[in-house]
Amino acid sequence: MAGHHVRMKSTTPCRCSECSAEFVPDPRVGERQVTCGAPECQKSRHAQQCRVWHAANRNATASHYEDVVVPFREQQPDYQRRWRWRQQLREIREKTTLFGGALLLGLRGLLQRAERLLAGAADVVQTGVLAGEKLGRAVAVVRSTIAAVEHLEASVAELRELGL
Ligand SMILES: [Zn+2]
Repeated sequence: MAGHHVRMKSTTPCRCSECSAEFVPDPRVGERQVTCGAPECQKSRHAQQCRVWHAANRNATASHYEDVVVPFREQQPDYQRRWRWRQQLREIREKTTLFGGALLLGLRGLLQRAERLLAGAADVVQTGVLAGEKLGRAVAVVRSTIAAVEHLEASVAELRELGL
């Protein structure tokens, strides 16, 4: 075993947990030293420690679920239903935010262009698409739609304030 620091003259040799070679612990490490100190043994020991840690951590997570999460849910029979209700509301709120924002942008753009059309149409007799009074009435509908979407946005902002 080249590279292993086996010091046979010691009176209390230890055995490496990885390669079983005898070694004398470094006085600075003392009883905590379990490997002979060879890099491959240190690496192997470290991997083993990691496996132990992960196994223990898995158990801790599992018992947290059984000891804390399950009893909590049993005490709160509506917890899941309330959680789901809030989740669905949140999804609708998020969709509404995206949808409302895009809608407002489009409607406000239409309104601006309609105002230019109305201003230009003052002394010309219009025929065809949106002729006569129609454009003016359509603009009024666009305005009330904008107001409705703004109202929707205010409701969404109120939900957000409630943390929903
Ligand atoms: Zn070793």
